[in-house]
Amino acid sequence: MVKYKVWLDRKGCIGCGSCVALCPDYWDLGDDGLSHIIGGKRIVENEEIVREEIILNELGCNIDAAEACPAKVIHIEEIGE
Ligand code: SF4
Repeated sequence: MVKYKVWLDRKGCIGCGSCVALCPDYWDLGDDGLSHIIGGKRIVENEEIVREEIILNELGCNIDAAEACPAKVIHIEEIGE
């Protein structure tokens, strides 16, 4: 069964909130004004969250979030089991 990895290159996020507006089940803005993937895994470098990712069976509204992101920092990859 195909799964999907949705990941955020957080350093490029400009905090516009489009992902949150279109896909609030998965996206939220953090205290620093940049987006987070709800329930996502956070990759930290030098005490800064540089990347977040989540593995999903279905993309749902994440497609809309990725397409709408003006900074093009929401990425979707198909992955195997
Ligand atoms: S749409 Fe893109 S730039 Fe805007 S808050 Fe979401 S991830 Fe950041």
